[in-house]
Amino acid sequence: MRRPNVLFIMSDDHGAQAMSCYGSRINETPHIDRIAQGGVRFDNCFCTNSICTPSRATILTGKHSHINGVRCLAPFDWMDCRQWSFPRDLQRAGYQTAVIGKWHLGHGGVSDPQGFDYWNVLPGQGLYHNPEFIEMGEQKIMPGYATDLITDMCLDWLEHRSKERPFCLLCHHKAPHRRWEPDAKHAQMYEDIEIPEPDNFNDDYANRAGAAAAATMRIERDLRPDDLKQDPPPGLSPQELKRWKYQRYIKDYLRCVASIDDNVGRMLDYLADKGLEEDTIVIYTSDQGFFLGEHGWFDKRFMYEESLRMPLVVRYPQEIQPGTVNDEIALNNDFAPTFLDYAGLDIPDDLQGRSIRPLLQGRTPQHWQTSMYYRYWMHLGGGHTVCAHYGVRTKRYKLIYYYGEALDAPGAVDEPRSPEWELFDLDNDPMEMHSVYDDPAYAEAVKELKAELARLRDEVKDDSAPWTE
Ligand code: CA
Repeated sequence: MRRPNVLFIMSDDHGAQAMSCYGSRINETPHIDRIAQGGVRFDNCFCTNSICTPSRATILTGKHSHINGVRCLAPFDWMDCRQWSFPRDLQRAGYQTAVIGKWHLGHGGVSDPQGFDYWNVLPGQGLYHNPEFIEMGEQKIMPGYATDLITDMCLDWLEHRSKERPFCLLCHHKAPHRRWEPDAKHAQMYEDIEIPEPDNFNDDYANRAGAAAAATMRIERDLRPDDLKQDPPPGLSPQELKRWKYQRYIKDYLRCVASIDDNVGRMLDYLADKGLEEDTIVIYTSDQGFFLGEHGWFDKRFMYEESLRMPLVVRYPQEIQPGTVNDEIALNNDFAPTFLDYAGLDIPDDLQGRSIRPLLQGRTPQHWQTSMYYRYWMHLGGGHTVCAHYGVRTKRYKLIYYYGEALDAPGAVDEPRSPEWELFDLDNDPMEMHSVYDDPAYAEAVKELKAELARLRDEVKDDSAPWTE
């Protein structure tokens, strides 16, 4: 059988709540929905460390942060790209490989992309308008809007590739990352509409660990003037001001998403026009989720649902039943072994993920993962004052331990806090508003989840953070 092409489209900070195929209440994404309608939507795909640089490193290496060495945000942690990554194996096996767009794993020397026939990436976060790119080590400024430019360059690369060999193209959008700068085409979108606020927009952070109240990612307080880009009208009450800021924030965010969606449509149209739909696995995902006003927040980092969940839709007509939904647990370290599987390559023993190909085919292997290990390292660092934590999520529960130390994590703040636990029963409390860790009715669940967390820590070989009973 001919080996399939891979088109991996990843955006930055696109929460599933802002995709209509996930039931968004706030926008429409007709082109991303085409992937879901023609393939499968994953409802429980999670990242193992909800922040840009580490999630990208985990996707490339199939390993947790403490193994691949990228625990915190660049420039505090950069990736050593001499280590194993799936593009290197695909390239060696005859795939044409390229990465175009956001890289954010450092650049120069050992952090430049490796394993790619062609790379053309934004330095650091990159700019929305007239961005600089680094093309195979050479810097150049490109006039235009980042999302359009990245798509133009992807289409150009596809058009000029060899038609004899399969391709693996990583199309990495910068959008919709902060500061959410739309292009002129979408700048007026939603102007006369009020976007609904999430149900827990006015969270008071009671009934949880102190970590939630300590975080500095509140819409009312922590959005900056350059995020909002306009002065608020005079005379607003504090609640009116919060609501005004949310509208400013979410509209620009959704305008950036609308541009991505248009450009996903361009990519899909190209595949259709060239007769590539049957032979190409098309993936749309984001490096992690994002808070869109839930808990009154923007940003990510927490193990809470909106941040933990990666949107994941996959289309491959030869193996995936159109319009299906999968609720098995899939992780960002499962991508690399999946691509190897499809390329017919051996999966190295030290990879920590597993191929989701059986799930894509509609069957769940025996002993498929029923829990996942999460760890956020950057204690109080990186501008949003989120306490370091690790935890376990099962289909029903989430147990989180805020261990209260920076340890040696780069970019973390050496300011100890009292350790705290949280437990959420997601069946009863999907918005995670009430920790039941101290509720005697959950004593047995706590015991079982601690045992599972200990088992997972052992399995992923992470014993660097303190453990407490
Ligand atoms: Ca991100």
